[in-house]
Amino acid sequence: MEFPPDHTHTNGIQPHFSPSAPVEQRRVGLVYDERMCKHSTPRGESHPENPDRIRAIWNKLTSAGIRQRCTVFDAKEVEDKYIAAVHTSNHINLIKTISSKKMASKRNKVAARYNSIYFNEGSSESAYLAAGSMLEAAEKVAKGELNSAFAIVRPPGHHAEENEPMGFCLYNNVAIATSFLLNQKELGVNKILIVDWDVHHGNGTQKMFWKDSQVLFFSVHRHEYGSFYPTGDDGSHIMIGEGPGAGYNINVPWENGQCGDADYIAVWDHILLPVAKEFNPDIVIISAGFDAAIGDPLGGCRITPHGYAILLKKLMKFSRGKIVMALEGGYNLNSLANSVAACVEVLLEDKPIAESFEAYPFESTWRVIKAVREELSAFWPVLADKLPEELTSKVAPLLQIYSSQSEDEYDDGPNTLSEDVTIPLSKLNLSEDVNDQVTATYSQAWRSELAKIDVWYASFGSNMSESRFLCYIQGGQTEGMKRPCRGAVDKTKPKEVTWKTVPHRLFFGRESTVTWGPGGVAFLDPETNNQEKTFMCLYKITLEQFNDVLLQENVRMDTRSPFLDLNALDFIEYEKSVSLEALKDGWYHNVVYLGKENDIPILTMTCTHATVEGFKSGKIPICAPAKEYADTLVRGLVQGKQLSEDEAVAYVQEAATKPL
Ligand SMILES: [Zn+2]
Repeated sequence: MEFPPDHTHTNGIQPHFSPSAPVEQRRVGLVYDERMCKHSTPRGESHPENPDRIRAIWNKLTSAGIRQRCTVFDAKEVEDKYIAAVHTSNHINLIKTISSKKMASKRNKVAARYNSIYFNEGSSESAYLAAGSMLEAAEKVAKGELNSAFAIVRPPGHHAEENEPMGFCLYNNVAIATSFLLNQKELGVNKILIVDWDVHHGNGTQKMFWKDSQVLFFSVHRHEYGSFYPTGDDGSHIMIGEGPGAGYNINVPWENGQCGDADYIAVWDHILLPVAKEFNPDIVIISAGFDAAIGDPLGGCRITPHGYAILLKKLMKFSRGKIVMALEGGYNLNSLANSVAACVEVLLEDKPIAESFEAYPFESTWRVIKAVREELSAFWPVLADKLPEELTSKVAPLLQIYSSQSEDEYDDGPNTLSEDVTIPLSKLNLSEDVNDQVTATYSQAWRSELAKIDVWYASFGSNMSESRFLCYIQGGQTEGMKRPCRGAVDKTKPKEVTWKTVPHRLFFGRESTVTWGPGGVAFLDPETNNQEKTFMCLYKITLEQFNDVLLQENVRMDTRSPFLDLNALDFIEYEKSVSLEALKDGWYHNVVYLGKENDIPILTMTCTHATVEGFKSGKIPICAPAKEYADTLVRGLVQGKQLSEDEAVAYVQEAATKPL
């Protein structure tokens, strides 16, 4: 195929734009291959790094008409000799043979030796295709056949180390492509900038080019003083490279989650761009993880698709826009697909991007930026100047909305997650009257969105009785209750009611409640226990109504923002439970995922694992239910045709007396 010569419009630093100038089309390559979907969990277990990730991207690029504007090429398996530049022969041997028949019986055992790794019969092929596709994309861009390219590949690569797969990564795709470019002398590539904007530190890539001054490795990631995955000191800002590579390894370690467009842009403007200008790379490779995207279940950060577009646009002024992107993480399918689409559009079009936004970086962001600049100023004098006070004094408040208390099902996961906070902190403590006005002003947007989503609310307590549950929806008071309920904003009755038993322990604790008076209330141990069987009444309601029930169960009046939103709904399927920080004084602030019924998630609310420990140790009293409360439970079970009255009484009795 014949390509026109390398386009010259962006001849380096400042392309000239005028509103009437025609938008120039750039040649952008895309590589995607369904065969990279063959790598999946051995028994179909759900996992964030799954084939749907790249399918979602491909579908989005196609439906948005973006794919059609690109040069699509086929994936090709990488040759072992190119892998050997960054991985050991042991490692190559492992990945080459892991999917063979003869390894079938050992495969899971081998995977268990590594940190956050699974293998199946398709892993080998997918890994070779992922690395090969990235290499091919990089070669085409280096040769000028393409202006830039995006390799939509999996498994991802940046955690993979010289001698071990790690963190969902088998081969280090970006590192393999980087050494390939440097080793093919005829390509004339001598300096490569790798930008790793995945929310996790690119530990593998860092080590592979640790002593190399031809590769400037830049990673911005959640670090939290070494407690965020991959834990330890590797991602610290004092890790700057060694020997000739000293100063060519730059880590920007976030102290907290929630970082968004403003934080990343500040890092670009005050660290990455000045250094990149000095370094003057021949090509830019992006380890493009999208798990710092808003709504990502593992990342807990908040970059918007437009934010990614800005970050990418800022990098296009280097190496004449020769940019090769490789997919790394990114686990919220919508956010992932939208962010990739925004990036490919930037690669395609030579047009300016509006950079107006009102948010400021966090105070911690400025602290990190200053520390990084200080650490590296000896190598990059451009970082030596002190940042002006009027710049760094403008900060956004940090607000933790909810955090997960669940066990780490995947090592690759944060323990906190946040949502986009638009209500200023100062408004969070208002008197009730003012509260209602604020509710009216702020409630509309989230309500209409969450009203479209159905969930099963599963009750194991008094809500099993429909008349009692309807008080939470329609307001009012039923037999045995000491006070009325306010009800939900949407008073529509549940669309469906069904029953199910779950392998969890039911127990009663605390001394008294506002609604029922003296006596304990029901809790479900969030931990699965196959010896146990608890009856659950499932109500099909909207996620909006679920939030209203959640607030009433936790005796809160504040409904200005949802506490379990769409992000949390995505998140909970993987984490199994989400402890709602904003409701942490309530007894039922831990939302637990119990699987699906007709493809709709089943959610319940109970105490946290930590509280169960409190009950077990006697720190929080175990206590049988009040009579009215127990009667309501029995009524629910009998009306739901689960048990006869005698059986129901015995069931409640047993849960109330059996030791935890
Ligand atoms: Zn990641």
